[in-house]
Amino acid sequence: MNSETTVSPNFDTFDHDHLWHPYTSTINPLPTYKVRSARGCRITLEDGTELIEGMSSWWCAVHGYNHPVLNEAVRRQLDSMAHVMFGGLTHEPAIELGKLLLSIVPPSMSHIFYADSGSVAVEVAMKMAVQYQVAAGHPDRTNFVTIRTGYHGDTWNAMSVCDPVTGMHSLFGSALPVRYFAPSPHSRFDGGWDPHDIDPLREIIEKHGKDIAALILEPIVQGAGGMRFYHPQYLREAAALCREHGLLLIFDEIATGFGRTGKLFAWEHAGVEPDIMCIGKALTGGYMTFSAVLANDLVADTISSHDPRVFMHGPTFMGNPLACSVAVASTRLLLESGWQEKVRRIEAQLREELAPARRIPSVADVRVLGAIGVLEMKQPVDMAWMQKRFVEEGIWLRPFGRLVYTMPPFIIEPGELSVLTSRMLKIVSEIPG
Ligand code: PMP
Repeated sequence: MNSETTVSPNFDTFDHDHLWHPYTSTINPLPTYKVRSARGCRITLEDGTELIEGMSSWWCAVHGYNHPVLNEAVRRQLDSMAHVMFGGLTHEPAIELGKLLLSIVPPSMSHIFYADSGSVAVEVAMKMAVQYQVAAGHPDRTNFVTIRTGYHGDTWNAMSVCDPVTGMHSLFGSALPVRYFAPSPHSRFDGGWDPHDIDPLREIIEKHGKDIAALILEPIVQGAGGMRFYHPQYLREAAALCREHGLLLIFDEIATGFGRTGKLFAWEHAGVEPDIMCIGKALTGGYMTFSAVLANDLVADTISSHDPRVFMHGPTFMGNPLACSVAVASTRLLLESGWQEKVRRIEAQLREELAPARRIPSVADVRVLGAIGVLEMKQPVDMAWMQKRFVEEGIWLRPFGRLVYTMPPFIIEPGELSVLTSRMLKIVSEIPG
């Protein structure tokens, strides 16, 4: 047989030879599947294969793909301007988005800094915290404390507060700033609160608080660092410690924001407001990269009252009008679409349909919160094999480490979700226990 006839149209040689994909080797890259189009909850590959989308494209596309309302928002904005600089200029989409965001984030958030991506938002938040401490007369408070199994992005400082074992600390060694790490809370979201869970964080803050600008963490759900759901009381106790010792509290809601955990933002599970909050991912409904860093008056006004009296950050594409327009449209659509009911329905269905996985020998744990369903395996999965099996079964999921999980678009139909969950169970059952 001619070798060309054996190559699937979903495989692209140029891509294989020249395009670097996320966390991928150039010599022996994991296979990539070429996508022709995507609509609603379906991805269509080049050969016409349709996949049910269980990832929301890394948790962003909450309304699914090719949504008429979001398409129209981009088109309309394109007709007036794609971009203008934000230094010295402003525009209606940025203002409209700002007003909308302030109506849904924690009430104490009053200032918004638009940034380019989740990782950049984390960089901005960390800079903000240090600049605040310098302005507040604490120039020695330059370090950060966080909890293990977290994930905050791949840029330098974001990387430094990712889990030191599953993150990239060993690879980059002394090039990375050394942070303080408390163990991640072991009190589960759906279990009881162990009052000792906060002790290690308290010890670090009591001992090193004077060096620390802020505590940064993902509230309630730790995403890419381990898909763990922890007890809201941890946030309450952590916030009290921060207040007592003069640390700022930064919530990274990049993954948890916009309804994913069953609340519009995860801080609501605990009723604890941060000083600085990062949002991104679903902010634009998955249409383009964009993020925002929100701050309270204390942070913003302290920075602005001390030399150099400005916050020292200003990306070229800050406040991009296309991104702002689609973010307004996506956020409005979310608020008007009965997201809460949709997420509640997805949660109930995930709970019911993933529960039998507890009896599969290769599965160590099953957990569900909001529109997040996780099968934690006993052993790390063979990603290339599993990805291929998922595609053969007509679903799109991207497992990592020991985690096989779904975060579907909120528009997923019950029938589509059942296909996803049944295929997840079928394929993990093929792994020996
Ligand atoms: N923080 C969290 C909690 C995330 O989940 C991610 C992305 N997975 C980031 C930050 C980084 O965002 P980005 O990939 O847009 O830089």
